[in-house]
Formats: sequence, C-alpha cells, structure tokens
Amino acid sequence: MCQTVNNYPEFKYILENYKEICYNIENAKSKYRKSNEVINLMAVTKTVEPEKINFAISQGVSLLGENRVQEYLSKKEQYNKKAEVHFIGHLQTNKVKYIINDVKMIQSVDSLKLACEIDRLAKKNNKIMDILIEINIGNELSKSGISKDSLFDLVNKISELQNISICGLMAIPPIGSDEYVFEEMNELFLRIKEMPYKNISMNTLSMGMSGDYELAIKHGSNLVRIGTKLFGARKYLEV
Ligand SMILES: *Cc1c(COP(=O)(O)O)cnc(C)c1O
Repeated sequence: MCQTVNNYPEFKYILENYKEICYNIENAKSKYRKSNEVINLMAVTKTVEPEKINFAISQGVSLLGENRVQEYLSKKEQYNKKAEVHFIGHLQTNKVKYIINDVKMIQSVDSLKLACEIDRLAKKNNKIMDILIEINIGNELSKSGISKDSLFDLVNKISELQNISICGLMAIPPIGSDEYVFEEMNELFLRIKEMPYKNISMNTLSMGMSGDYELAIKHGSNLVRIGTKLFGARKYLEV
C-alpha cells in the first residue's frame, strides 16, 4: 500500500504519518476482519495546501475527501489527477452543479431534496452519481446527516431516482463515542444491504477519522477518512 520516495524532505512527516496509518489499518484489519476485505484510506484535504496533497498522492494516497465547495474549486486544478475525489462536507442544493462532474462520489447526502438535485444534474450530464447516505448517528444538533429513524424511508425514496446509485452509508460518530455507536452503524449498513431496493449496491461504510479509525474498522468500516493524523493539525478553525 505505501511506497517510499525521498523527495520533498520538508514533507517527510506526511510520509511518516502515512506509513503509520497504513500500518495501523493493516493491524486492525488482521485483528478484526477477513483477509480478503479491502479497507480504503481517504486523505481529508480541508485547509491543506495542494503541494502537500500532491506529495501524499505521490506516496500512494489515491482518494481525497473534500468538505467545502469553494475551497475545492480553488484547489482542484492544482491536484494531481491520479487521485479520485469524494465530496464529504455539508452540501447545499444550489452548489451541486459545481461539483457534479468532478467528484466520483458524494458521501454527504442527507435529504431527498439534495438527492433530487443530484439526480437531475446527473441526468443532464449523462451520468450515474454514486452517493452515500450520511447518518447523524449521535443525533447531534450541530451536525448534518439524517436521523437513523428516517433512514429507511429516505433510502426507499432515493432508490427510485434513476441517475443515483446508493453505495452505502457515511457517519461522523461524536468524538469519544461509545463502541455501540459504531456497532449500530454497521447494523444499519448490513440491514439495508439485505433489502431488495433498486439502484443500490451497498458496498461502502465510510466511518472512522483520525481519533477512531481503528475502532471503526473493528465495526465494519471499509473507508476511513483521515485529516489531522496525516497532514497535522489544521491551520484555522472549521466553520
Ligand atoms: C475533517 C473531516 C474528517 C477528518 O477528520 P480528522 O479528525 O482530521 O481526521 C473526516 N470526515 C469528515 C466529514 C470531515 O469533515
């Protein structure tokens, strides 16, 4: 998974972090998961300079996570195109048009209104958009995501849309969450996977960040989203 190239000495810490994360992922996998399962690592890029992101890509990172439309648009031309991009931040309906052709997946779908706009623009652009449904698993007022009680109804409605493919679930468990929160996400994921919906191929459970990715892997995650642990502390406060 990790390669070693010795350019950019000033970014060496990113390589060290990357190696450590890869090692921990493999370790958690060997403890908790089947050997043929694949755990994907996403580098979360918010506030990180394109040079550092491209360095990470040169070391083997192949998936980027973008939170903010404006920031993404200002940086995307500078990115090495080898990496795939997923949108993972709160997305306003009127901004879907700016990203629909650039991102491989939108992980943060949490309303029918947003799904309908993605579907409409995907149709217009002749594509099927991969999405995840974001669940507010901690029921936090400050977070986006749908409540787990509304999940099945939303999945049911989105599954009728022709130009959207539901690929799984995404969650941001509250910091310091008990293990059962992760377990609960995995149960929801497996339950939907067994249902006979149309336009659904539940293959992605996107869960786990710098502080909890090993716990998330223990409970079924196959896509961990890492920012701080890879690039260091973010420079300015998040909105
Ligand atoms: C910022 C962010 C992450 C990464 O968080 P870290 O704790 O820095 O690893 C993951 N997912 C989402 C949706 C984020 O906004």
